[in-house]
This record gives sequence, structure tokens and C-alpha cells, in this order.
Amino acid sequence: MARIKRKKPFRPRCKYCRTNRHIVPIVYGLHPNQELLEKEQKGEIILRGIARSVDAPNWHCKACGNEFLR
Ligand SMILES: [Zn+2]
Repeated sequence: MARIKRKKPFRPRCKYCRTNRHIVPIVYGLHPNQELLEKEQKGEIILRGIARSVDAPNWHCKACGNEFLR
């Protein structure tokens, strides 16, 4: 295959669903740019305001709602 592999974003697996198919990254920031807003509309990421703590989750599973750090 001629596709560039590194373009594919890394996604950890959900420990409940045992797949990373429904995993989307959680992006924190008060003023998301247009690119981020479009990605959220497509369901590729989750936008959050401010991370409440240092161990705020980075990943969200759309299938079961599980959120985890890595
Ligand atoms: Zn899940």
C-alpha cells in the first residue's frame, strides 16, 4: 500500500469496548480555531473548555462514554 502510515492518528483502546474504533481525543482550550470546530462537528474530537486538573482525561469513547487519560 502506498498510503502514508504516520498520517493515521494514534488512538488507544477503550478497556470496556476493547476497540479504539469509537475513541476520539478530547481537546482542551478556551478558544478553539476553525479547524478544531470543524473536527468536532464531524465527531472526530471532543472540545472542552479548560482542563480542570492535570489528570483530566485525554480520550473519550463515543460508544460507552468512558473517558481516560491514556
Ligand atoms: Zn468504550
